Amino acid sequence: MVDGIPLPKRVGGHPALDFCNTYAGWDERFNPRGEWLRSYEVLARFAGYLELIDESDVRRLCRAAARDDEGAAEVLAETRRFRKHLHSAVTEPSSARLLGPVTRLVQRAAAQARLRPGAQGTARWEIPRSAGLEMPLLVLALSAAELLTSPELLLVKSCPGPECGWMFIDGRGRRRWCSMSSCGNRAKSRAYSQRHRTRA
Ligand SMILES: [Zn+2]
Repeated sequence: MVDGIPLPKRVGGHPALDFCNTYAGWDERFNPRGEWLRSYEVLARFAGYLELIDESDVRRLCRAAARDDEGAAEVLAETRRFRKHLHSAVTEPSSARLLGPVTRLVQRAAAQARLRPGAQGTARWEIPRSAGLEMPLLVLALSAAELLTSPELLLVKSCPGPECGWMFIDGRGRRRWCSMSSCGNRAKSRAYSQRHRTRA
């Protein structure tokens, strides 16, 4: 819970994967219960939670969204579409066809991005306030481009849990579940009850 809003746990190891994980149930047909990005406000807060935008920008964007319902709904819908495209591209990065729609949004983000001094002594890409309500979507696009061109992409796995499919970086090659406390535990208790059924 962040400011009273439920947000998905950051288990991905990269902000672009945590963004994909704002939907659960990639193995199924559309599952409305699996949607975390239920409003523009949640999207803005989520970008803040990932530390891709500042808290002051989160508050400013929430106020702007309250004044422009239609504009905010459009950005939210486009963000969800982008999430689907990104999920496909991460799953199959050797497909030029799947990279196409991601490229188009990254180009839009790059056209507005500028280099600013970062906290760690290096520079970082920043989307200026002039991007308006699109700021969270464009910072997520830059993060997606970073992941897709990084060797970390080769370590990405998807959780096999039912109604899950959350993605994460498996650095040691030993991780199976998004988190032991959710899908991992459910699998353990399923295995336990199956063992007991076979014995009975
Ligand atoms: Zn899972």
